[in-house]
Amino acid sequence: MKFEDIIRQNQVITIETLKRDPELIQQLHLLLSKLHFYPTSQVNAGYNPQTQQGMEKFAWSQYLDTIKTGKIGRTFAERLLQKADPDRYYANLLEPCGKINDNTNKSTPVSTTLAAVDPKILLKDAPGCSTSVLDGLSRQLIDEMNWIEPSTLVSFGDLNVDNGPAVYPFLQPAARTALSRAISARGRKLYVNSAYRTIAQQLMLYNQGQRRQCGIGIVATPGRSNHQSGLAIDVEDYYGWRPFLEAQGWLWLGQYDPPHFDYVGWGTRDIRWLAILAFQQLWNRYNPRDQIYEDGLYGWSTEYRLNRSPIGGFPPRILYLTLPYMEGSDVIRLQTALNRAGITTGTDGVFGPGTELSVMNFQRQKGLVADGVVGPNTYKALGIS
Ligand SMILES: [Zn+2]
Repeated sequence: MKFEDIIRQNQVITIETLKRDPELIQQLHLLLSKLHFYPTSQVNAGYNPQTQQGMEKFAWSQYLDTIKTGKIGRTFAERLLQKADPDRYYANLLEPCGKINDNTNKSTPVSTTLAAVDPKILLKDAPGCSTSVLDGLSRQLIDEMNWIEPSTLVSFGDLNVDNGPAVYPFLQPAARTALSRAISARGRKLYVNSAYRTIAQQLMLYNQGQRRQCGIGIVATPGRSNHQSGLAIDVEDYYGWRPFLEAQGWLWLGQYDPPHFDYVGWGTRDIRWLAILAFQQLWNRYNPRDQIYEDGLYGWSTEYRLNRSPIGGFPPRILYLTLPYMEGSDVIRLQTALNRAGITTGTDGVFGPGTELSVMNFQRQKGLVADGVVGPNTYKALGIS
């Protein structure tokens, strides 16, 4: 037996069973030694006190109480493979995109789902199989990324494409340009089943995998997949599109995951840390009494908060002139709405005196109290929910 089998078959084995399986013990020693929890020179030895110690140390580092219970289950096996041998783990065990997209795009009719779901529900309790219920939170995350680094992600929704219901048509600028060229070269509409995936969507899929819901197996934790880099798309008619996409720097992943293409051309960067940083900033802005590190690293403490974020997004802050100035993606949303209402104002995401004046002008125009404070009434008048 291998740890892969425990994961695939969702098995639980006792330490006693482990002791009788030399193949599994050897793999365990190898993995633990890679993580420096077991001496490399003893990999071929049988089960011994150091094995027990190594497992305890690893379980402790992962906040798992596996060893105390005397059993090894899927979570332990998965964490161990993921940490010690990530390449093998991601190559052999992860769910291919095609299957995830089937669930995300087709399993629940989006319009009815969105209407019926309370936006205050937390991500960990997100209902159904479609990640489209996370729309509010997902959009907030994309806004926040673009606020930290403008034009990190650009929309390709204006190209000759047809996107599935839960698709966020965002790519890094270089990938968008390459996609645009491929579509022009073929002169045909491209059907896209997945493009940018927010860390919120990724965590919902990961949760489904962990709970064996929605027919999903193993899903990467947030921060791994190229879909979170704005450098991947899943398309229909992939054989037809392959030569056109490949001519523009898009790489076909192959038979294992046929709809998936990665952009590997010039002018890109790794933005996965930015997606995580965006969430950490967003969380801290709305949770002044529960601040977390803004380090762009996805760990236990970030996952815990992401699981406890409302699927409809964090409710808008009350915005007003203060020192230091309030800033963020919600200020950009306010400034954009003011411009839409005919009040020209900068969209820099910083609530300075100019923005305050614009708010007061808008409030006067609408017969509201012109106090420059953006609260529920002003939000409503601006059409921001
Ligand atoms: Zn994919």
